[in-house]
Amino acid sequence: MHLLVFVLACSCLALSQGASHDWGYPDLDNNQNEPFPKWGGLCDEGKKQSPINLHTKGALKGLFDPLKFENYDEKQSRLHMVNNGHSIQLSGFKHDLTLRGGGLMSEFVVEQIHMHWWSEHTINDIRYPLEVHIVHRNKIYPNMSMAADFKDGITVLAVLYHVSNTPNQAIASIINSLDDIKSYDQMNKPVQVKDSLAVDDLIPNVSTYFNYAGSLTTPTCAEAVTWIVLTDTHPVTLDQVNEFKGIEYEKNKQLHNNYRELQSENNRAVVLVSQRAGAAQLCSLGALLTLLLAITVQL
Ligand SMILES: [Zn+2]
Repeated sequence: MHLLVFVLACSCLALSQGASHDWGYPDLDNNQNEPFPKWGGLCDEGKKQSPINLHTKGALKGLFDPLKFENYDEKQSRLHMVNNGHSIQLSGFKHDLTLRGGGLMSEFVVEQIHMHWWSEHTINDIRYPLEVHIVHRNKIYPNMSMAADFKDGITVLAVLYHVSNTPNQAIASIINSLDDIKSYDQMNKPVQVKDSLAVDDLIPNVSTYFNYAGSLTTPTCAEAVTWIVLTDTHPVTLDQVNEFKGIEYEKNKQLHNNYRELQSENNRAVVLVSQRAGAAQLCSLGALLTLLLAITVQL
């Protein structure tokens, strides 16, 4: 009897692992009240989960040295884009795009860029129509799965987009290739992006941002992410956002929304960072002291 139960349990597990859609989002266009599903593991039990609501007033104030971007202004003419059933993702950068400075203790390199339609983070309780995630791996770890095991493993630069009547050119150059990957039949088959694009074009002013320790917003929800959520937003039209809503994750089923519900802050330090004018030699130390002081004050 016990053996039978064990065998049944094992085959159920194998089935769930083998399924092509083992996690997903509620279709809120179809039913606004459909609950967000539980994704299991750390996603349900973690205490440093993302996204969260970011309050300008409630945040601690920090003064960091400037973020330093390398190669983000390089025109990328051979980017790859894939519909992975949860988002669309860009990769295949010519040279390493590296990020350092701010409160970061080491150098990070861009692994991939993807989007969420309806933003995941909210700022002062406002949800924006689009959020772009530029996912960086700490260079001291050889790959993303290793990096996800360490709390300093990953940095995500998040850019929120606000509604505008003027189309966003950088987003338009991504949308131009969407038809090649939209349908379910093309899922998980990368294509080359037809237009060229500099990653810089996706990023507004970086002089102020929210900084907090959180997680990936998709399973495994690893608590390895230093979040940099810019307070400046970029414009996008609703027609452009609707183009993303047309990608399929199952035959004839469109991914109308792909944001995770807000998570508890759990007394984490959320720092609203302003950039120190002029990078002095002592900035890194200063940034660390500011953060330590901010955390101490909160405790
Ligand atoms: Zn994301």
